[in-house]
Amino acid sequence: MSLSNFDFADLIKKAEISFAEIKDIHELEQLRIKFLGDKSEIKQKQKELSGASAEDKPKLGKIINNTKNEIDNFFKEAKNKIETKLLNQKLNTEKIDISLPGINAFPKANLHPLSLITADIIEIFKRLGFSLLDGPEIETEYYNFTALNTPENHPARDEQDTFYTNIAPHILLRSQTSPIQIRALEKYGLPLRIMSAGRVFRNEETNARKLPFFHQFEILCVEKNINFSHLKWTLQTFLNQLFGQNTEIRLRPDFFPFTEPSAEVDAQCPFCKGKGCSTCGNRGWLELLGCGLVDPNVLEMAGINSKEYSGFAAGLGLERFAMLKYGLSDIRELYAGDLRFLSQFNI
Ligand SMILES: [Zn+2]
Repeated sequence: MSLSNFDFADLIKKAEISFAEIKDIHELEQLRIKFLGDKSEIKQKQKELSGASAEDKPKLGKIINNTKNEIDNFFKEAKNKIETKLLNQKLNTEKIDISLPGINAFPKANLHPLSLITADIIEIFKRLGFSLLDGPEIETEYYNFTALNTPENHPARDEQDTFYTNIAPHILLRSQTSPIQIRALEKYGLPLRIMSAGRVFRNEETNARKLPFFHQFEILCVEKNINFSHLKWTLQTFLNQLFGQNTEIRLRPDFFPFTEPSAEVDAQCPFCKGKGCSTCGNRGWLELLGCGLVDPNVLEMAGINSKEYSGFAAGLGLERFAMLKYGLSDIRELYAGDLRFLSQFNI
């Protein structure tokens, strides 16, 4: 059949029907080769075009191109149809179980053990009517020592025990949180029932039990008619709530410059109930905190009539309580920043 007699409309019709009936990607490829491949009729006609007369050539060339474009469109439509069908099949077979747990892409943050124990202790004293106060970490010698009945020749003032700054003379890193008590007495007057928690600094060598800084928690109560039994009841209530009811405590006489009388408080080891274990070093008792009635000299220095008012104070190391509560043997673990260690406290 010569080029001019060829029935291009018939070829388009055949291609349209064939591509419309297509069922899978394999058939599609076969039809593409048949209608558009190198040996297809349309390619054959393109080759024959060179033999056509100069007069017929533009007209026939246009017909061939149009035919090829039409068939190409049928192919693209069929391809699109097959691909949509495959995608739908895939979506229908893939089931999404929305009850499955999600992928944990981000690790959950948690509070540091020191923050946890501090929050627990603050909560207990809040219920007992103590207000939380804060104070500066850089202090004057007056608030850190003098106002707390620690005279100028006291060894605690020595540079071997205390970090002095070069900001100005008599300016130091506080060695205790007690300066907050003096500032509170001056600022708020009486009666006063406060607590404070914060970092303190001492010129110590680092080992498993000591660091050059640690966190202290303190309470101070100054009211009329305060005596030692109020102090003992407060501490007993606190330790019962922290370690469990009926925690037995004992008070041993001790010395602190700003309290008189002073005592060291031991609690029966809550882990072995006094039988002896590794936490309490087989003693059955744990040394927990220092306390006492506020020395009248301290009250007088703050402008308080010590005949009219009396008070009690107690202080403890928060690292020690965190170590006891979480069974830690090395204080340095608290500051190593090791996420494997810290993630254990994800509560
Ligand atoms: Zn024990």
